[in-house]
Amino acid sequence: MVEIQRILAPNPGLMTLDGTNTYVIGGQVVVDPGPADPEHIERLVALQPRLVLVTHRHEDHTEAAAELARSVGAELRALDPEQCFGGEPLVDGEWIPVDDVELQVLATPGHTSDSVCFVVPDQAVLTGDTVLGRGSTVIMHPDGAVGAFFASLDKLEALGDLEVLPGHGEPRSSIAEAAREYREHRTARLAEVRAALRDLGMNAGDADVAAVTGRVYPDVDDQIRFAAEASMAAQLAYLATDTNTDTLPSGEKE
Ligand SMILES: [Zn+2]
Repeated sequence: MVEIQRILAPNPGLMTLDGTNTYVIGGQVVVDPGPADPEHIERLVALQPRLVLVTHRHEDHTEAAAELARSVGAELRALDPEQCFGGEPLVDGEWIPVDDVELQVLATPGHTSDSVCFVVPDQAVLTGDTVLGRGSTVIMHPDGAVGAFFASLDKLEALGDLEVLPGHGEPRSSIAEAAREYREHRTARLAEVRAALRDLGMNAGDADVAAVTGRVYPDVDDQIRFAAEASMAAQLAYLATDTNTDTLPSGEKE
């Protein structure tokens, strides 16, 4: 077992829950440095990490990354070459040595196209925004996509009962269970979207995103309406592809 420390960044919000979780693995690898908050960065610099990793390109995970890497002379690596600094882009399936264990990079597109999880075998999986500590993740259309997200949930479910260390929220006990919950939630939402389209007399391919969002997410806070609409656009794009209706419960098919 390698020591994994969780440091909560001071950026709570509707999208970030309690704030971004920054993880330090074996005292030498920082995952998701988080926001560019001076005290948070100072705390990470004091650890003198040799490697900085990010789970995806969103600012609440990456804003402090380049500054941290530069200050301590560490490599910064991500799947997206544009997020890297002094280090190579990550490769799906790659093993990264840390202490006397190795982390495995698992590409898990869906929330964004560049989302990855880091697997610490027999111990835990760091999931970024692919699986959160509570609630569901946003599919950030057009970068994110529902079909890719379902495929990523299958990969995560296959990891079994590893502990989930999410990018936001508290750890969860089983990635397999969390992946199943997420699949059920997304499948139920897609059924609601299909029902809303029927009620509104619209087709997935040319629907009014705001109108369908208002129907499926009536109580959404104005501050995160953009996220609800991005997720809706992703779901409509998915449903507009005929073959994907197969994933819906049979009662929802016409
Ligand atoms: Zn994100």
